[in-house]
Amino acid sequence: MKAIVALGGNALTGKERKAEIKKQFEAMKSTAKSIAKMIKNGWHIAITHGNGPQVGALLLQQKIAMREVPPMPLHVLGALTQGEIGYIVQQCLLNEFERQGINRRIATIITQVLVDENDEAFKKPTKPIGPIYSEEEARKLEKSYVMGRVEGGWRILVPSPKPISIIEADIIKKMMEEGIVVIAAGGGGIPVVKKGDGLQGVDAVIDKDLASQKLANEVAADILLILTDVEHVCINYGKENEMPLTDVSLQEIEEYYKDGHFPPGSMGPKIEAAINFIRNGGKETIITSINKAWEALQGKTGTHIHE
Ligand code: ADP
Ligand code: MG
Repeated sequence: MKAIVALGGNALTGKERKAEIKKQFEAMKSTAKSIAKMIKNGWHIAITHGNGPQVGALLLQQKIAMREVPPMPLHVLGALTQGEIGYIVQQCLLNEFERQGINRRIATIITQVLVDENDEAFKKPTKPIGPIYSEEEARKLEKSYVMGRVEGGWRILVPSPKPISIIEADIIKKMMEEGIVVIAAGGGGIPVVKKGDGLQGVDAVIDKDLASQKLANEVAADILLILTDVEHVCINYGKENEMPLTDVSLQEIEEYYKDGHFPPGSMGPKIEAAINFIRNGGKETIITSINKAWEALQGKTGTHIHE
């Protein structure tokens, strides 16, 4: 059985969601235990992940160093965070596999994700990323980025286009079928467009849940397993009449979605990913917390979304 396992901010950086390196290793060490259970039970997986805090830290480093070193564009920073996080995941998993005597290989694939140059999102960048800049700094950055006014200064605004396809999907699929644990599509993948006779990186951020779903369909995964910091998706979340969802059909979840139970920027994209995965031939999407991954796969907990 094949699964795409999408790791949220909590799995990688812990509760504070800061890119401090010790915290990242600590969080991943415990996440690795949970993933090892799946591997031991014969699952073939690719791991995807977010990169919000890490890319935010790199943007801040660009800002501080910009007088001395030319700042790197966002798509390059995306590639850097894929390397950074891939390294942490690889090492923590490898150490856990060694401890448990699991004989499986692990590799990170730098992943590009095709987006449409004419995606509506490019007309109006809305997603603020990275640190707050002064007016003077913002003027300099305006040459390469759309800058937006926020409280206390300026921030880089980037578009969040829809993923069309995963450029490296075929190799990821082959590796998964070989039993290699693959880390891919980190940070939603590096957004690229078709320009002239080739691909070119663009400064945008693809939602990591939607990129994970694309990958899941393209490698024909049985399950899309989205690991976050809540055990269940709820309706009326945070209200008195909050109710956890355990087993829901596509039709039911679509109705809840329309009724506004899942806000954009947190649960919304996960539900959209869940729906798209099944619509495109996937069997089931499971959303749960990191430490419940294995129990959820056995049907004991988590929110299960299916046809
Ligand atoms: P990740 O880094 O895993 O993508 P997010 O913060 O983007 O995490 O999304 C998970 C969060 O979504 C939860 O911590 C929870 O606060 C929030 N959330 C919003 N709506 C719901 C809902 N209907 N059910 C459960 N959680 C929800
Ligand atoms: Mg999120």
